[in-house]
Amino acid sequence: MRKQIVAGNWKMNMTKEEGQALISEVVNMAKDEVKANTILVLCTPAPHLGYAKRMFQSQANVFLGAQDCHEKASGAYTGEISAPILKSFEVDYVILGHSERREYFKESDELLKAKTDQALANNLIPIFCCGESLSQRQAGSGFIEFVCGQITNSLFHLSAEQFAKVVIAYEPIWAIGTGLTASSEQAQEMHAALRKHIASKYGELANEISILYGGSAKPSNAPELFACPDVDGGLIGGASLKSRDFIDIAKALK
Ligand code: PEP
Repeated sequence: MRKQIVAGNWKMNMTKEEGQALISEVVNMAKDEVKANTILVLCTPAPHLGYAKRMFQSQANVFLGAQDCHEKASGAYTGEISAPILKSFEVDYVILGHSERREYFKESDELLKAKTDQALANNLIPIFCCGESLSQRQAGSGFIEFVCGQITNSLFHLSAEQFAKVVIAYEPIWAIGTGLTASSEQAQEMHAALRKHIASKYGELANEISILYGGSAKPSNAPELFACPDVDGGLIGGASLKSRDFIDIAKALK
């Protein structure tokens, strides 16, 4: 069975005190309420990474994630954080190619290819984001090819052994932080297309790759989204800042 994952993307939110409170609530609730085979990932702003891991060391299914890494291993890049630095803080996962970074920081498919290589070289599991804009969706055709193209351009240079470590997150840009959610039919259509696309390059391995849905997921819509055969969990923004909502979303997993 594919890994079932609910990852929380805190984005640029949470002071230290707020972060500590949220983590301890999530860990306590996870102990009692979340299935042992459900993987929870907390993708915090970088300053939280130093202490966060110690707070859930006793909880085997809770992991630590960063929200980005640099494409180089080290150097004079003020303000940036490399994959080796993240690994030294025992980070497990790293979000790459979030649409906010693609838009505000002009991250290209080519740059994300290099970031993916850095993440994998340092034993970080990339949560690789892809997704189409509202205008691409409204054009009515070509959006599936566009999203598959993002995967081709940034990931299809990987060996099968490397690709097996990657988690994909399909995040329609029009659904992120907008309150609009893809319908379960729209999510399933894209997830199945992505899996077929991955199979065209990596064969059977495609059935082992976890593909998460992201975009205004919440406790009320998670059960329907997660019931889709090709949806293996979620990347959760706003709702990951509330422990009750985040855990209720995780409980909706198959
Ligand atoms: C995200 O930023 O990855 C995301 C899915 O955000 P939200 O859940 O708030 O739409």
